[in-house]
Amino acid sequence: MAVAFKHYINGRWETGVTLGVSENPSDLADVVGEFARADAAQTESAIRAAADARDAWAASTPQRRFEVLDAVGSELLARKDELGTLLAREEGKTLPEAIGETARAGQIFKFFAGEALRIPGQKLASVRPGVDVEITREPVGVVGLIAPWNFPLAIPAWKIAPALAYGNTVVFKPAELVPGCAWALAEILSRAGLPAGAFNLVLGSGRRVGQTIVESPLVDAISFTGSVGVGESILAAATARRAKVQLEMGGKNPLVVLADAQLDRAVEHAIQGAYYSTGQRCTASSRIIVESAVFDRFAEAMRQRTRALVVGHALERGTQIGPAVSREQLEQDLAYVAIGRDEGAEWLCGGEALERPTRGHYLSPALFIAQPRHRIAREEIFGPVACLIRADDYDHALALANDTPFGLCAGVCTESLAKATHFKRHAQAGMVMVNLPTAGVDPHVPFGGRKASSHGPREQGSYAAEFYTTVKTAYTASG
Ligand code: NAP
Ligand code: MG
Repeated sequence: MAVAFKHYINGRWETGVTLGVSENPSDLADVVGEFARADAAQTESAIRAAADARDAWAASTPQRRFEVLDAVGSELLARKDELGTLLAREEGKTLPEAIGETARAGQIFKFFAGEALRIPGQKLASVRPGVDVEITREPVGVVGLIAPWNFPLAIPAWKIAPALAYGNTVVFKPAELVPGCAWALAEILSRAGLPAGAFNLVLGSGRRVGQTIVESPLVDAISFTGSVGVGESILAAATARRAKVQLEMGGKNPLVVLADAQLDRAVEHAIQGAYYSTGQRCTASSRIIVESAVFDRFAEAMRQRTRALVVGHALERGTQIGPAVSREQLEQDLAYVAIGRDEGAEWLCGGEALERPTRGHYLSPALFIAQPRHRIAREEIFGPVACLIRADDYDHALALANDTPFGLCAGVCTESLAKATHFKRHAQAGMVMVNLPTAGVDPHVPFGGRKASSHGPREQGSYAAEFYTTVKTAYTASG
């Protein structure tokens, strides 16, 4: 078999030192493609290419950057059905979700095409006579971008697009589970008019490729999205050599349902937030905190809706929940279901491995009633496993919502303006949703969390400039 997915280094396609295989989690008999895997030396050659290209790309005009990014965005949008099919096949989210993600990636490139034309600065009068002060934003240099598998086009897009828009050069390492999506994006970038070395794709493991990027003295900044454990090790290594670092990590997001909420809508938000994209979203609602007065009614409605969800092949029409991304992830989901039962959480439905006409990592969405101390109510599972937690009243619900090491997103369903306003102010999270699912965000505004969920400046929107630029203050004698 020819290697389908290669590295893109210094403007050329390269095969790897070893090979890996990308599988379809909906159908393990379907090989998406063989992919190249780099070692440290090949990764270092990509880093050197990015370092050699940095001055040329930093000197490129805003108009040129606009044209490159706008072309990438247009192609993603024009090919969203085809690329969405690849995404659904490789990652396992449903085809409509995957097409939506591809379109989102296109919109993100378009947004940052515009931002390239609007790089902000300031000119002020000095406190001294005869002096002008200017504040400008310059590229950081070579940025290493390390991405997870769960949004294999959108997350790379929201890192690569601002990196290039603000004049940085890129070494991109996607997760090994989704090399096909990364290759497809790189293939579009390879035809968009960038100088050789401005964008490099290196496929391979976190331990080899990721670590080499993190430890390289030529990499000025690292943007990482993934698990807390890996994020913390990257933070330690990057900080030790004074590289700039941005981390987006896990979540254990609460959705609070108050007694005055429109219950039908609240159930839909909970179902959407907990189970869609197979629960494999950092913004998934995994703790559904329900006020006592409506708890039993809500739990029964949620159990019935959960049981009715259609689990199947990601590319099949009518599928609502695709498979887990990998055997490892399925095993983690099943292990948490067992932990929930062992710890005495009340099982309501689901949590069983399923058989379908094609062999894949299928799991029925699981619902528990848990106590706040249960591990399934505290640890990120990253699968279609949710728990309901009973709250005495609003104050108790807010306290439960904030009782977590994470702080990515928090939601509330209520008809009370006073309670919604209070919740927005007091939820310890980077993002708050009122009468909406916790998952589902806009691309033109900041994305990120607090506590163990994030570190460093926000991603997305014009706030991305904080991470991808460095500020210079210049004084000029004016008279
Ligand atoms: P992960 O295991 O932490 O991996 C993330 C990326 O880091 C992958 O590309 C991985 O490579 C790489 N990596 C692993 N070890 C590394 C090391 N020692 N040095 C450098 N890079 C290394 O996360 P995942 O399993 O892909 O994704 C699931 C996690 O991502 C969840 O915890 C989820 O909450 C989080 N997530 C967060 C957000 C957010 O914005 N907050 C969004 C999506 C996902 P390989 O896997 O290829 O070896
Ligand atoms: Mg992982």
